[in-house]
Amino acid sequence: MRYLTTIGLEVHVQLKTKTKMFCGCAVVYGMPPNTLTCPVCLGLPGALPVMNKQAIRLTILTGLMLGCRIAETCKFDRKNYFYPDMPKNYQISQYDMPLCLGGGVVLHDLAYPKDAQKSIATADKVIGLTRIHLEEDVAKSFHLETATGIDFDRAGTPLMEIVSEPDLETPEEAFAYLTALKQTLLYGIVSDADMEKGQMRCDCNVSVRPEGQPEFGTKIEIKNMNSVSGVRRALAYEIQRQTGELEAGRKLQQETRGWDEAAGRTFLMRTKESAHDYRYFPDPDLLPVHTQDLLREAQAFMPELPAAKRQRYVADYGLTAYDASVLADDLALGTYFEEAATVAASASPAVKPKPVANWILNDLTAALSADAKTVVDSPVPPAALVELVAVIESGKISGKQGKEVFTEMFGTGKAALAIVKEKGLEQVSDAGALEKFCDEVLAANARVVADVKGGNDGAINFLKGQVMKLSKGTANPVVVGQILERKLKG
Ligand SMILES: [Zn+2]
Repeated sequence: MRYLTTIGLEVHVQLKTKTKMFCGCAVVYGMPPNTLTCPVCLGLPGALPVMNKQAIRLTILTGLMLGCRIAETCKFDRKNYFYPDMPKNYQISQYDMPLCLGGGVVLHDLAYPKDAQKSIATADKVIGLTRIHLEEDVAKSFHLETATGIDFDRAGTPLMEIVSEPDLETPEEAFAYLTALKQTLLYGIVSDADMEKGQMRCDCNVSVRPEGQPEFGTKIEIKNMNSVSGVRRALAYEIQRQTGELEAGRKLQQETRGWDEAAGRTFLMRTKESAHDYRYFPDPDLLPVHTQDLLREAQAFMPELPAAKRQRYVADYGLTAYDASVLADDLALGTYFEEAATVAASASPAVKPKPVANWILNDLTAALSADAKTVVDSPVPPAALVELVAVIESGKISGKQGKEVFTEMFGTGKAALAIVKEKGLEQVSDAGALEKFCDEVLAANARVVADVKGGNDGAINFLKGQVMKLSKGTANPVVVGQILERKLKG
């Protein structure tokens, strides 16, 4: 019996605003507990919320980037529940009139886990979105040895909830969805979306059913996932567990489960019987929002999206589709490349973007990852890398010597030309000096010269090697080759 898997994700994203959703408290990560609070976000009686328009603009911008329909009017509702992290006993959220509807996330190849990129079932699969709504984050509780502490710094942070359609079919697609979504959020500068810091959190709904059964299987939710790879592992475990239960003839029940990363398994948190009834109703303190003006303002911040950037890199810089994808995949890496390409184009003589891209994708990326650095804190700025490529392209040094120079640049921050001079690496390209070396070698190797003239082209490499030896490796091999060709065949 084959089983089909259905997965839908609910992703919470903290917005990158200066202040909280309904008060003027600053949004800063990692401050001492309870230092960023006021009567509004502490939920004190009589305190009134004031809407943060920037949070609405950023949510609309997210909707625009993901191809959603932006509602003309939305409103805020109270989601009632009793829990220590929410002293008002309700969270301000959006129930039946969310800001964004529809839209989708495209799963491009590089968004998948590396080990799964060769076995993608559907290229550029689009995962539909149900809605995006805006709400306030709740406080954070810490379980200490004998008590629980609550930090209200997080309470009231603007939080988007992005709900997908149940279009995902494998843990790898869920991984790709979160990676592609995060990339879009970073491109729009709407969130830092750092899952380790809780700026992006994910709940997974997953069900399994025998092939041929038209209705979905029993929906089981895995709560509060805080890493993309954790989501992949938790889903793989849960699919196997649910399939095992069905194969053993047991019935699954609707429930909420947690993920124990250390043990590598999910565990039961609560069953449907204990599910909340939130009794939503419109928040009487907040007027409905007409989005027309905010939509216009948000449109001005619409960035070039990754897919468009990939195409532009191929068209404008002549890169391969793969290289363009890798560069556009990381906003900072793309910015580095474009800065370098601009310097390269205005250099004299101009340097082609292709070798610049190669240096970024190979040596620079490798050196950065070996040093656990990102491209933002690269010790080799774009202009310095272009200088190195120019020195190599001009034939002053060989590609192999270029690697040596790059290592020195990366370690010391010195410029390529300075290192070349210091190490005496400059190749002799002066035709007069090279002519002499060539003449000397030709005179000493009469038999090989006769061989070449008799049609043995391979023998010319031997002569080239002799010239290089005579020059103690300083001769420019390209120029030497040209001179020998001319002398022997000209
Ligand atoms: Zn506050």
